[in-house]
Amino acid sequence: MNFADLGLIPELLKAVADSGYSEPTPIQAQAIPIILQGKDVMGGAQTGTGKTAGFTLPLLQRLARHANSSPSPARHPVRALILTPTRELAMQVEDSVKTYNKHLALRSTCIYGGVDMRAQMAELREGREIVVATPGRLLDHVEQKTVNFNQVEVLVLDEADRMLDMGFIPDIKRILALLPKARQSLLFSATFSEEIKKLADSMLRDPQLIEVARRNQVVETVTHVVHPVSPEDKRALLAHLIKSQDLRQALVFVGTKFGASRLAVYLAKQGIEADAIHGDKSQQQRTEALEAFKTGKVRVLVGTDVAARGLDIDDLPHVINYELPHTAEDYVHRIGRTGRAGKTGDAISLVCAEEKGRLADIERLIKRQLDQVVVEGFEPDGEFHTAGKRARGRRTEYDDKRDDKRDERRVPRSERAPRDPSARPDRGDRPRNEPRRAKKDELPGGFDWRKPYEPALPDPASAEAQLGRPHPVAPRGPQRPVAALLGGLGKKS
Ligand code: AMP
Repeated sequence: MNFADLGLIPELLKAVADSGYSEPTPIQAQAIPIILQGKDVMGGAQTGTGKTAGFTLPLLQRLARHANSSPSPARHPVRALILTPTRELAMQVEDSVKTYNKHLALRSTCIYGGVDMRAQMAELREGREIVVATPGRLLDHVEQKTVNFNQVEVLVLDEADRMLDMGFIPDIKRILALLPKARQSLLFSATFSEEIKKLADSMLRDPQLIEVARRNQVVETVTHVVHPVSPEDKRALLAHLIKSQDLRQALVFVGTKFGASRLAVYLAKQGIEADAIHGDKSQQQRTEALEAFKTGKVRVLVGTDVAARGLDIDDLPHVINYELPHTAEDYVHRIGRTGRAGKTGDAISLVCAEEKGRLADIERLIKRQLDQVVVEGFEPDGEFHTAGKRARGRRTEYDDKRDDKRDERRVPRSERAPRDPSARPDRGDRPRNEPRRAKKDELPGGFDWRKPYEPALPDPASAEAQLGRPHPVAPRGPQRPVAALLGGLGKKS
């Protein structure tokens, strides 16, 4: 199949060809014809699948009839609204809009917080058909009366599950209330919780369900390795790995903003160019850090899940989990930053005893056991082998400070006295055969909303069945990792 088979107009086909794409990805093949027909869509897809072009191309085609070069703002009302959870994702989506729009005369803008509103106001005043925005700042513009949604024809909610995680649902509802009822709505989410389903019910009309690569699939081009280590040795091990393996471009994930900054400072002290990216940094700082990382000026970018969400860095070779995420699905999101578009990548996780439960959750989710390799000189303490799945405390700033202190006192393992295993706290206080208590997120009937979206037609437990809707008419794409497929397609260059 090629893009022309999907019914795209020549202006868009040209833009796609300019981008070097020779074949549509599965989500594009499924979504484009449905969106062109004006239908609502509920899409199960994560970043890295080509979903941005999957909704942007047909959206542009639907708006193409409005393209005009008049200088009058009245001729350029907002026709499409694309909401994203983070500024970085908003910027990336708007980049895609610009890329595919280059042979049409539609106008677009990107609205996000953390920067002065005036430039955004000026653009909105000039008139923009396509607005890509994060919800909070968009509502600021609503309050300032600098934006009007009366002419909106298409609404896209990208990464709805992340919007939910970030507490944006009330903002989204406020925005929905301002949009015309007669519109096309598209919702993309990697998982379908009860709340997402409720939101979908309130905003979509008879949606077509589309799904591609399952959320719990990690691409085959990524190698995973776990280095068991003691908490007090983590930083030194990280520096050791970066230096000894000469890692040139590594995205390092930590649990807290504070931890991200401290770790970046630590690495810099070890002579490794590093910067941190997190929500407390200004937009300017975040953009500069990302740019420095992309161009290779900074070797290591340390970030939190939220900050790193949506980053599309070409050829990112290494992702390091300095701390494992609390939600197994975030592991898949993190790892999604590497091994993109068929390229190879590696995912390194530094895991201490208290994270073993999270490791087990991840292995269960991705249905794969990860290789554990102990690095000489950084062996974990014996507790690593005895710790069960209980210890999952959230990392706090106290932990970061404690690590700093430990780090200052750090004595090379070779110079330390051996530990007394009998001095370790007893962790096995729940008898092995005692039944596990239901987790708080598990609903009666066993539906766990944190689980990935697995429609598995014709399984009655599919998302369609959960929504009480008939199966989609959409053709189903191949169920294999999309990045591998993208690699197979290759760019024309
Ligand atoms: P997305 O899932 O939208 O973040 O896209 C992931 C990456 O795939 C982006 O870098 C796109 O440029 C790239 N991409 C999108 N569509 C195609 C395609 N049909 N062929 C090859 N690469 C693509």
